[in-house]
Amino acid sequence: ALELVPVGSLALDRFDRVLPAAAMEAVRRAQRLGRAELAGRRIWHLNSTARGGGVAEMLVPLLAYARGAGVDARWAVIAGDGPFFALTKRLHNRLHGVPGDGGPLGDLERASYEAALAPNAADLRDLLRPADIVILHDPQTAGLIGHVKACGATAVWRCHVGLDTPNDLAREAWSFLEPYVLQADAYVFSRESFVWEGLDPARRAIVAPSIDVFSPKNQELEPDAVDGILEAAGLRPAGGGPPVFQRIDGSIGGVTRRAELIEERPLGRGERYVLQVSRWDALKDPLGVIDGFAEHVAPHTDAHLVYAGPDVKAVADDPEGAAVFDAAVERWRALPAERRERVHLALLPMVDSQENAAIVNALQRGADVVVQKSLAEGFGLTVAEAMWKRRVVVASRIGGIQDQIEHYRSGILLDDPYDLREYGLAVRRLLQAPERAVEMGDRAHERVRDRYLGTHSIVDYLALIERLL
Ligand code: UDP
Repeated sequence: ALELVPVGSLALDRFDRVLPAAAMEAVRRAQRLGRAELAGRRIWHLNSTARGGGVAEMLVPLLAYARGAGVDARWAVIAGDGPFFALTKRLHNRLHGVPGDGGPLGDLERASYEAALAPNAADLRDLLRPADIVILHDPQTAGLIGHVKACGATAVWRCHVGLDTPNDLAREAWSFLEPYVLQADAYVFSRESFVWEGLDPARRAIVAPSIDVFSPKNQELEPDAVDGILEAAGLRPAGGGPPVFQRIDGSIGGVTRRAELIEERPLGRGERYVLQVSRWDALKDPLGVIDGFAEHVAPHTDAHLVYAGPDVKAVADDPEGAAVFDAAVERWRALPAERRERVHLALLPMVDSQENAAIVNALQRGADVVVQKSLAEGFGLTVAEAMWKRRVVVASRIGGIQDQIEHYRSGILLDDPYDLREYGLAVRRLLQAPERAVEMGDRAHERVRDRYLGTHSIVDYLALIERLL
């Protein structure tokens, strides 16, 4: 049932170019320690998908850097069927504090959860050795913790979901998962406030999510390349440079697919724009992003708004996405003509993930202000990506975003995610004082450099493993 995923190898030396010497020394120290402590041990990561989703996106570079550092890092993906993933989605929603499909989490569900995991457990018994360390990600794999322990291996549960103030829905998910999670040698959360009540404080650890700054999504792009990519994607009129970016394998890629655009006219060359890149999800509040911009930004500035998300036709397993996109188009249509022409909705091509990433990269680099007006968020990867690119980000004061942005220093936090005026005013002020935006953008870059790079995750995980051994 388990599928082994090939893991690449990337040298940590390349971080010399972006990290200060002291931070690089900490990486090297962790690396030396890792080699000494981990000799002969394998570090397994276990999750439920090798592609798509933030966890897989983070694991690809993280495991490659761990390998590059001499750690025997391995990756296995569990198998499950439709009902299993419907149940784990139910758990995921409740951990976020929202009802989702509202279905039960009783004895029947527990029995079917364990039955679905049984073939994976059988594979683990063949695979694992007592010296192994296994990091199990999210609710999908929690039921395997006991099986890992039964093999004599060390089990760490990594939870990527959380909410600031737990509610009864979240507690229901905790009760379901607790019998498994309590068997782990350690549990890892993204921030302190996400740690469940009732877990052993001595066994908890905090590891923040991280971005890969050398990937097609975050790598440096010359201004010409930014224009070229936006132009090839149909987001800006012709006249820019070559549409190039470097693929993970080092080859040079060009953008060939065009985004599908809902717009009155294309964004003009040199026209300023405010950007939100997000899935078409009500919790990302696309309608609020559009309305707040139309009411409070457009009348007072010359800027445009671009809301870019994945092509809803390509994401077949998300019927919600298409409905949210349709609602956004309807809202756009209802705007007065002079405001409508300043709002652009983009469906980004999804066939080639590296091409998609290059377009996101160029959009973020070209933006004057980046927005993340989410209503709920564990950690905003898009926030970290934009901050790395020295963009000033205006984002809701929720979840991990509060750790990422220091208010008025490395970005702006919105106290009330539902307040369109607060959001509009913040964006407007930044558009009217571009020098503030530059200042905060520079500090935003430093913030990500100091806290949210893959090297930080590696140092944090190695520290945890050292503690466990
Ligand atoms: N993303 C993308 N293409 C899109 C929309 C989003 O590549 O059209 C990426 C985005 O750059 C980020 C991730 O999807 O890396 C979203 O992560 P985030 O934590 O912001 O939100 P989530 O989707 O996990 O709720």
